[in-house]
Amino acid sequence: MTVEIAVISDVHSNLEALERVLREIKSADLILCCGDVVGYGPRPRECLERVRERCDRCVMGNHDYGVVTGDVDRFNIAARIAVEWTRRRLSDEDKEYLRGLPKIDRFEVEDVRICLVHGSPRDPIWEYVFPDAPREVLRELVRLADADVLLMGHTHVPMHEEVDGVHVANPGSVGQPRDGDPRAAYGVLEVSDGRVVSWEVNRVAYNVDRTAREIVDKGLPEELGARLYRGI
Ligand code: ZN
Repeated sequence: MTVEIAVISDVHSNLEALERVLREIKSADLILCCGDVVGYGPRPRECLERVRERCDRCVMGNHDYGVVTGDVDRFNIAARIAVEWTRRRLSDEDKEYLRGLPKIDRFEVEDVRICLVHGSPRDPIWEYVFPDAPREVLRELVRLADADVLLMGHTHVPMHEEVDGVHVANPGSVGQPRDGDPRAAYGVLEVSDGRVVSWEVNRVAYNVDRTAREIVDKGLPEELGARLYRGI
């Protein structure tokens, strides 16, 4: 049997983008989330609620971590303001959910071993693995992943490479793409009978105006709205 797995990442409190993507992937058998549900955007509570309802598995991202710990040392100014703003708005239950997210999650679907993480298997919260990562770094990450598919987020840039027989993939970002294409991104992985059938990244346009306006209305840094139009 072929199982269709939708992979989302870096929603970043952008409800317009998330709703749009969830509509696209409603027929998926499984939905995975590579973390950073919150941060940057104006709708953290609603996004958390939707992710809790719809995603089968989710790992902790650096913004999720910042929101639950209050540790914002490693964020730039705009990100820090948004993390602190988000912290004040979430309920105790919301924070409890974020705190309970695993940093790394390994499981099997149709005898395919999957490793789900936000950053990387050696630094699940913080390491950025961009598409131009050196081969020897990818080899090390694949070794640590100990899986057939390594799914990562965090860079907001889609990626797919086969390294020593392991699929290393990043679905890009739902709520704040950074590859120059402002459309929301998500991945679809098909697995069947112990093997990967396909991986693809799809893009879908959403109402950027509404999210950008809300960012300003709620007193978040204006640049966080402006960048959404440019996909940076
Ligand atoms: Zn992110």
